[in-house]
Amino acid sequence: MKTEDLIELGNSALFNTYNRGDKIFISGKGTYIKNNDGEEFLDFVSGIATNILGHAHEKIVEAVTKQASELIHISNVYWNKPSIELADKLVNYKGAGSLSKVFFTNSGAEANEGALKLARKYGREVNGSECTTVISLVDSFHGRTMATLSATGQTDMHKDFQPLLSGSKYVELNDSEGLTAAVDNNTCAIIFETIQGEGGINTLNESFIDTLNELQKDGVLLIIDEVQTGMGRTGTLFSFEQFGLEPDVVTFAKGLGGGFPIGAFLATDKVAAHFKPGDHGTTLGGNPLATAVGNAIFDEIIEADLLDNAAARSAELTAGLEKISAETGSIAEVKGLGLLIGVQFDEAVPAADVLSACYDEKMLVVTAKNNVVRLLPPLNVSAEEIDEALEKFGAAVKKVAE
Ligand SMILES: *Cc1c(COP(=O)(O)O)cnc(C)c1O
Repeated sequence: MKTEDLIELGNSALFNTYNRGDKIFISGKGTYIKNNDGEEFLDFVSGIATNILGHAHEKIVEAVTKQASELIHISNVYWNKPSIELADKLVNYKGAGSLSKVFFTNSGAEANEGALKLARKYGREVNGSECTTVISLVDSFHGRTMATLSATGQTDMHKDFQPLLSGSKYVELNDSEGLTAAVDNNTCAIIFETIQGEGGINTLNESFIDTLNELQKDGVLLIIDEVQTGMGRTGTLFSFEQFGLEPDVVTFAKGLGGGFPIGAFLATDKVAAHFKPGDHGTTLGGNPLATAVGNAIFDEIIEADLLDNAAARSAELTAGLEKISAETGSIAEVKGLGLLIGVQFDEAVPAADVLSACYDEKMLVVTAKNNVVRLLPPLNVSAEEIDEALEKFGAAVKKVAE
């Protein structure tokens, strides 16, 4: 079937929830991806911070094919070996702090949904049945299900889906006074990202972190949504390792499967103990195939020193972007951590135009809120690919700025 016909079929058979353009990507290898016209692109989207080993990585291919030929799925009413192994690796990782239990899910939203349920059960059992309020931050993103949408601090996403979950409250990022004022006896948890991904690469500041730590001492649970920042994206396995935080609950997804659907929430013993048999479940979450892929990815991150690579490539990328900023004068700020980098443009230079100029240069990037372009290469990106990206991105920015 011709590409135009296939896309026409897609438009008639699929929900109209994304603007997908007029090409179809067919195959990828490493940091490169090819479309139906045989055009090759440098992929700095990585399935939105998901394909952390790039495309068609041999370890992922091997894990999928081997596990698929042995056991794809059983049920969570039985033990499965890959899930035990992956959970053990995550909680015994040196940076995991006191996180000691894992629940596997299929997605980021499902991980956050579970974390919110856990926080409510904890709040009710420890502080009484009124202790169910969850505070989240303006411009956060936690997912598209009703509970995670309610926690997402973006009113434009709420408007057509009211009423939201009761007990949802929002505070501006880094507004310590506002946060302290919003917490009361009925607050069971605060959910937040260390760096807001979809919200425009906005980072927690030190005084806000101090406030979070104080509120935690007073008994409010800290849930860190590491769906985008986790699995090494920021240069450490958990981003919170770099923020002086000791979360009670952490959620993972995107990088955990390298493109294979899987998520997880991790919690301390103290909190996890409140989930008993029957309290929570999922049919497919953490099945042998998904967790076999997770194991392969975790092992590759450690064995190939990908955390160090992410940090080193980040320094090169950031320095190059600062240079482009100085040359063009159209960039307001280069921000982020590790390989979660945001380039905030001045209003005169729309991020969407930069995205399409990058496409013309054969490079894929993705936007975020507040006129930001996000650069999210895989953790194993090479120094040469960073150079190539800077050349393409620089050319694109110059074209749009003219
Ligand atoms: C992507 C994302 C989610 C939602 O994950 P899904 O797998 O799309 O449900 C939640 N939180 C953050 C921070 C994300 O970046």
